[in-house]
Amino acid sequence: MNILVVVVDALRVDRVGSYGGRSVTPTIDELAADGTIFENAYSTTNATDPALTSLQTGQYPRTHGVLNHGSHVSEMEKKRVEDTSTLPSVLNKRGFATGAFGRPLGRWHRRGFDRYPELTSAHWRLKSLEKAVSDILYSVHPSIGDVISGVYNSLTDRTGSDDENEIVEAFDSFLEDADRFYSLVHLMDTHTPYDVDENLVERYLERFEYENTPLTEIAERFPTGSITYNSLQPGGVVNQNNDQWRGHEVGIGTALARAQYDAAATEADRKIDSLLSVLRDRGMLEETLVLIVADHGESLGEHDIYFEHHGLYEATVRVPLIVRPPFDAVDRVSELVNITDIAPTVLDVLDDSKGSPTEFDADGRSLLPLLEGSDSDDTWDSREAILLEEANTQRFRGIRTQNWKYLRAVGDPACRYCERPHGAAEQLYDLTTDPNETENLVEDRSEQAAKLRAQLEELLSRYTHSENDPNASDNRSVEYDDEEEVLDRLESLGYR
Ligand SMILES: [Zn+2]
Repeated sequence: MNILVVVVDALRVDRVGSYGGRSVTPTIDELAADGTIFENAYSTTNATDPALTSLQTGQYPRTHGVLNHGSHVSEMEKKRVEDTSTLPSVLNKRGFATGAFGRPLGRWHRRGFDRYPELTSAHWRLKSLEKAVSDILYSVHPSIGDVISGVYNSLTDRTGSDDENEIVEAFDSFLEDADRFYSLVHLMDTHTPYDVDENLVERYLERFEYENTPLTEIAERFPTGSITYNSLQPGGVVNQNNDQWRGHEVGIGTALARAQYDAAATEADRKIDSLLSVLRDRGMLEETLVLIVADHGESLGEHDIYFEHHGLYEATVRVPLIVRPPFDAVDRVSELVNITDIAPTVLDVLDDSKGSPTEFDADGRSLLPLLEGSDSDDTWDSREAILLEEANTQRFRGIRTQNWKYLRAVGDPACRYCERPHGAAEQLYDLTTDPNETENLVEDRSEQAAKLRAQLEELLSRYTHSENDPNASDNRSVEYDDEEEVLDRLESLGYR
């Protein structure tokens, strides 16, 4: 059996049709119809580096030791994770060909992979440099940034198809010599900036409106190509000619960016279709366990967070998880699961002798009993709570139980990126009646809050390894010892 894990960075549950969302992901929906939809799946955090490390190690960030993201990951954090078993390293030892495709990450993510994408490829170099340069220009004057963006757009393919060809061709050539494989594909379409096909965006405009005016109507008043990512940021300027819309830029921009996000989800879905076609053409699809998941979600305006993944709110930490095993599986699972369960699940599915895999020290648990449903020999004890933690922006910690979300700031609740708080220092939400987390019940339901506070403390101590003192994550990496680190730092300017 083979394993294909596709991580769609920042993909929200409500954009996946099989979760009752907008039908912009036909391939994922078809796969879901054939497999299992985990309705209550969560990340462990809100940033890619700690989340993907959780996926590959089966451990919470405070167990594997990487709590930060990008350039904020300290040398100490990288050292901590060095000795931890990862799914590709375990499978590679068992004779699996291992290949990662798409977005490249820091050096510890490469462990166990025969093939790993180069951060220094032309694609990533261009992306990083473009973002760094345009940020500087926008800080000088927005119109200079717009001009440069326009020139850049006219010179480069912004539809993502280059990216797709690179990923799909690399995946196809990897399969050439693979008897059995483990592959991790990391797609960036739904992560800002949304480099999407303008025609696709136009098709989705009709789904959105601004102050009761359909966006299709508003868009006609804008010169083609004038809506750029940078112009959509709060304080940005939409370069448009019609006085009627002056003063409404950010509101319109926000609505348009949501249409771009939908289009981006469709583009990621098309890439998944191409990857599955490669497997089908090679006759390998039916013997491949396919998992579609996101590293975290994305806030499209919820809690005053625009096109970013700050905080531990549902929009940011709840993720789609679809598992299509090469055997009959149940349609839907409502149990609380998280991305630390993926690695133990893969090993369990591969093992003939059931039970928990011994070569792996995972915090997560195999989802195989849930996939098999009532046919399972094993039972699944419902998980009481999932630990959520961020170290990068607001430094909130929290837990999600079956019905509640409790969040607590470590110190100052202000978001480091937005320089303002997105919510109170302590927050409690009843997700059964308030799924969008709008009413903070921490005072009205103080007993419930106290109970969850204690439960959070218990989880924090349960998952703290003595050598992984999370306070040490304050040490930021200031030495950039090679080009990879520099590019990583550039990337973090634009991708956080
Ligand atoms: Zn923020």
